[in-house]
Amino acid sequence: MACRIEPHCNACGLCIAICPVWAIAELPAGVRIEPLLCTECLGYAEAPVCIEVCPCHAISVMDMLTLPPVGGQTGAIQGATKGLMQ
Ligand code: SF4
Ligand code: SF4
Repeated sequence: MACRIEPHCNACGLCIAICPVWAIAELPAGVRIEPLLCTECLGYAEAPVCIEVCPCHAISVMDMLTLPPVGGQTGAIQGATKGLMQ
């Protein structure tokens, strides 16, 4: 399981700042969660903290069966998160 961001996100960046595993990044297409990095905050909080901080209620838990193809969004976010960690 992982979380996803809905189109009505206003790109405030709160979820990007609070994610403990740097699974969220702002891309040209908008703010996105990398589902292969998202742990649903396991070991960090009792519930996904991004969902709690989102003022737009734009984040929800998604079924892993709806994952996008590997190499699309995944590669872009991995590149963005590497940049944040350097
Ligand atoms: S659920 Fe937790 S780990 Fe997953 S994107 Fe949100 S803040 Fe990050
Ligand atoms: S906290 Fe909500 S509105 Fe702000 S960037 Fe994240 S998903 Fe978008």
